[in-house]
Amino acid sequence: MLENKVALVTGASRGIGRAIAVKLASQGAYVIVNYVHSREKAQEVADEIAAAGGKAETYCCDVSDYQAVGRMIEELLEKCGHIDILVNNAGITRDQFIGKISEEAYDAVMDANCKSCFNTMHHLAAHFLERKSGRVINMSSTSGVLGNVAQANYAASKAAVIGLTKTMAREWAGRGITVNAIAPGFIKTDMTEVLSDKIKEKTIARIPMQRMGNPEDVAALTAFFASEEAGYITGQIVCVDGGMAI
Ligand code: NAP
Repeated sequence: MLENKVALVTGASRGIGRAIAVKLASQGAYVIVNYVHSREKAQEVADEIAAAGGKAETYCCDVSDYQAVGRMIEELLEKCGHIDILVNNAGITRDQFIGKISEEAYDAVMDANCKSCFNTMHHLAAHFLERKSGRVINMSSTSGVLGNVAQANYAASKAAVIGLTKTMAREWAGRGITVNAIAPGFIKTDMTEVLSDKIKEKTIARIPMQRMGNPEDVAALTAFFASEEAGYITGQIVCVDGGMAI
């Protein structure tokens, strides 16, 4: 269980991040519900956690912004004293065929999905190393594992998350800090809701289980990676995808 642990979950106002925040709080963690735009939705998550007897607070920060993340970590450490679990979940898509991806859309996706993970791990490094403990769970994607049509920017960012995860797992392996990644497949959230019915049908046809996953499927594995029991597991990339990447 996660009593006395503080968990920072980026992008926790909606979708997978929301489910992760609720799950970690249900196991006793004090959860920081990070968001960038959805203030009310983030507050709803914190309220839902409180109503269930858990503890949470919201924190607005654009995690693609290096300086802003530095300020967030400093403030949270001052207030909470420690951060034990970091879930780098925030992410965006700007899907297009490569000739139509603007430089701005490429950079925005790389920054939100990958640089964000660098930003949080960089600013938390001294804290984790000093305490000789920490659990990091980074959100990749089957797109980063397999590649995906019209997702050059997104797939590149999620493949980079895998490289970052494996490197940090090695770098911190002797320091009591584990770093793992989850590669969700096709999960029911706002991110996939915007896709056309045709794309949804084609994607489901590629899934051996023939259905989409739920945010709670990803939250369950996140909670395991965050647990004491997962202390000998690091540098792993686990797909939660109904068999899509087999
Ligand atoms: P979602 O429903 O679109 O939610 C995205 C979350 O990320 C929101 O809470 C959003 O905050 C936050 N966010 C985006 N940019 C941010 C930034 N710069 N700073 C702080 N927060 C930011 O997405 P989701 O489907 O739950 O996806 C969650 C993660 O799983 C992403 O990394 C995504 O790439 C990955 N993933 C999802 C799927 C899938 O099928 N859904 C598959 C593979 C991987 P606001 O609400 O404030 O905008």
